[in-house]
Amino acid sequence: MRKLIIATNNAGKVREIKSIFAGIYDDVASLKDEGIKIDVVEDGSTFEENAAKKAVEVSKLVNCDVMADDSGLCVDGLGGAPGIYSARYSAEGTDEANRAALIEKVSTLPEKDRTARFMCAIVIANAGNVIFSCEAASDTGSIILEERGDNGFGYDPIFYLPEYAKTYAEMSSQDKNAISHRARALEKAKEWLNSK
Ligand code: IMP
Repeated sequence: MRKLIIATNNAGKVREIKSIFAGIYDDVASLKDEGIKIDVVEDGSTFEENAAKKAVEVSKLVNCDVMADDSGLCVDGLGGAPGIYSARYSAEGTDEANRAALIEKVSTLPEKDRTARFMCAIVIANAGNVIFSCEAASDTGSIILEERGDNGFGYDPIFYLPEYAKTYAEMSSQDKNAISHRARALEKAKEWLNSK
């Protein structure tokens, strides 16, 4: 019996990951499903380091594979910021305040430097060791200064993709999940698991 625990408390991520890995693992569970309460400090300097920290810490408590992810938005003209600090880019740390803080910063940049992409790292650990690690990027979009769309979360309303003429928040969750950074990283993890 192959079991995977997903080291996140985000219900949306749990749903997405459960559906992708259902055919590979016999059982896919979240921290909540397992009654595990753990607060891992994300003090790494890369997405992969932060994801590894979460996966490794949880894997020391259980007897199966543990998957963790870490993601964020990288703006070219800001040297890759907010990057690993995406969830706490403003003092308040809410999605709305983070977007407002980013709009303010980006408004000082020429339009050509407002290009950006989301990044996602996925790490799988077992018994305290990393056994798989990968990173994937979304398509390159552009940060816009006025919010568009009501779907999604985080920076979705200001991440505009020219080839779709839409922000992430104007796409259906199905369309976004087909092309997102997280979907691409999860696809790499799935390929590796299938090849084992
Ligand atoms: P974490 O990986 O859950 O720590 O997410 C970090 C932060 O990156 C989130 O709080 C969001 O602000 C941002 N983020 C990550 N993925 C997305 C996305 O798909 N859309 C919008 N914001 C995202």
